[in-house]
Amino acid sequence: MLINKELCPCGSGDQYTDCCAPFHSGKELAKTAEQLMRSRFSAYALKQVDYLYETTHPDKRDDDFKREITAWANRAEFTRLEILNKRQGRSLDKVGKVEFIAYYRQFGEEKQMHEISRFKRFKGKWHYFDGEVE
Ligand SMILES: [Zn+2]
Repeated sequence: MLINKELCPCGSGDQYTDCCAPFHSGKELAKTAEQLMRSRFSAYALKQVDYLYETTHPDKRDDDFKREITAWANRAEFTRLEILNKRQGRSLDKVGKVEFIAYYRQFGEEKQMHEISRFKRFKGKWHYFDGEVE
């Protein structure tokens, strides 16, 4: 992945190296649910399927998980993330919610997904638990 000097796909305005890259490489852990949310969006954009697997709560991973995520990430081009709202999910919380709109292009069409994602800590690390589509 040679995008280190480019802007991070999560839309923070920072270079990828200074933003989500340390989470993807495992050098740093997301401290908040929002950081995890952003790093997962950029993982979708960069098709980092292992990271998406690792940061999904173990109760929510099934056998087909990697295959499904790979298929979904390959069909869509993720273009922009907009965080609308968050509840808890701070460094000392155990649960958190992040409401967002993910913009993507699929089969030549601009699409968006509006979701409220739930995050939980598991063994001290933030994990994506599930989401409600708005
Ligand atoms: Zn980022």
